[in-house]
Amino acid sequence: MGSQAWKVPRDVVEDPLQKIVSLKGTTKPGRPSCAQLKGRIGKFVACQIYTTRPTPCRNFKASFEDGIHRPRCDEARKAHGLKSLNRSDWNNTDAEL
Ligand code: SF4
Repeated sequence: MGSQAWKVPRDVVEDPLQKIVSLKGTTKPGRPSCAQLKGRIGKFVACQIYTTRPTPCRNFKASFEDGIHRPRCDEARKAHGLKSLNRSDWNNTDAEL
């Protein structure tokens, strides 16, 4: 299976001619935010191209979702004023992630 097997829509990427895909909004300095993420960060959001999202999105895991701490998740959450996830967040179904 090729890296683009799920056909990321061309109109959601910064430059379709680049080998490595950057989604619109993700290279914005300061507080990058993917243009395909709809909703209110920290409340409820959803990816508008979830079934065709690119490989980096598929590989990016939330911290401790499988028991492993991921500092890049912490950094992304911090940029939007959200606390880092803890192991216990995944055991509490009432927690606001
Ligand atoms: S999973 Fe969706 S919303 Fe998140 S970065 Fe990828 S394309 Fe954007």
